[in-house]
Amino acid sequence: MANLEADCRRALEGGADGLHVDIMDGHFVPNLSMGPAVVSALRRALGVDVHLHVHLMITHPDRYAEPFIESGADTVLIHIESEGDISATLAKIREKGARAGITVNPDTPADTILPLISAGRIDEILCMTVFPGFGGQAFIESVLPKIGELRAAAGDLPISVDGGIDAASAPRSAAAGANIMLAGSSLFKAEDMGAAIADMRTSCTEAFGSGAT
Ligand code: ZN
Repeated sequence: MANLEADCRRALEGGADGLHVDIMDGHFVPNLSMGPAVVSALRRALGVDVHLHVHLMITHPDRYAEPFIESGADTVLIHIESEGDISATLAKIREKGARAGITVNPDTPADTILPLISAGRIDEILCMTVFPGFGGQAFIESVLPKIGELRAAAGDLPISVDGGIDAASAPRSAAAGANIMLAGSSLFKAEDMGAAIADMRTSCTEAFGSGAT
């Protein structure tokens, strides 16, 4: 964390399209991470052009979405499993000028978010491919059919995947219909992050929508 700016720059210089920031409240998930002040500091340090993709693994996104947007979040992703009026929180995120995303945990069925998709309330779907809360977990295979189900329902909406995304799981997720890869450990541990990002982009572009898993 003391080198957050340097690590973020390393990812951006390596060709990442943006930065995904995991916000944990110690309640929705057992871990605690950072608050709006850190997002604000990243925005100041990295400039206006970097896409900040902020994932709220918190119980009350209705209370905290706005401070994160004021701190510089471009996309705010909330969980369908969180509390409060989900649809109203998504509307508020858009009203404040950010993209509104909905997130589903591995054991939450696709149909929980179908009404939000058909009502046009969301700009992105985030499919968790691990249970949220800690980095470095293994990709959960059984989520792949759900990605396919969501792709069939979502038309052109972006679908992102988060958790255990590496050179093997990324193209499989893309084949099922995901088109935003949120990779942490696998890229930061790679010897050459730029090459790992480029390889992931190529393999996912080739596999996207093929259905082969
Ligand atoms: Zn995340």
